[in-house]
Amino acid sequence: MFYCNETQDKIKVAGIVEESIVDGPGIRFVVFTQGCFHNCLGCHNPQTHNVNLGKYEPIEKIVEKIDENPLLKGVTFSGGEPFLQAKQLSKLVDELKNKKLDIITYTGYNYEDLLEKANEDNGFLELLKRTDILIDGKFDINKKDENLLFRGSSNQRVIDVKKSLKCGNLIEYKF
Ligand code: SF4
Repeated sequence: MFYCNETQDKIKVAGIVEESIVDGPGIRFVVFTQGCFHNCLGCHNPQTHNVNLGKYEPIEKIVEKIDENPLLKGVTFSGGEPFLQAKQLSKLVDELKNKKLDIITYTGYNYEDLLEKANEDNGFLELLKRTDILIDGKFDINKKDENLLFRGSSNQRVIDVKKSLKCGNLIEYKF
């Protein structure tokens, strides 16, 4: 399994979209991370899979770009598999602490898997704790539904992470 732990102050990105209205509510800054091993059939971003592609973007540069836009409602981490760089993304969130931005993280893992696999090395819990809304699970082409809000297939869930961690049960987020 691949973790970019050797580059704690950089995030390996496939791309950045500075203003998006399709990756969560409001105007959002989106970081598309590079690297994914879930291999979902019909994935919309196959160019993000190869861990050897993409480019390293310094966290401070990303923060500067976010700072430049007062209209942002939040930041979305998409991919790729953001949890491959959970520690670096957590560091980015910490740099944004005073800005009242909400954090959405997409993942091919299930929420329960993330909790079960979480350890000090992978930083899964760190990123979960800094995420407001988690959209979890692999894209399932057999459950594809274009009417769903902010997700591609009906098996994927929109999770209120803070409430879920607090009460120990999965609480779905209602937009
Ligand atoms: S988890 Fe996302 S990026 Fe990875 S293969 Fe599945 S749909 Fe594509």
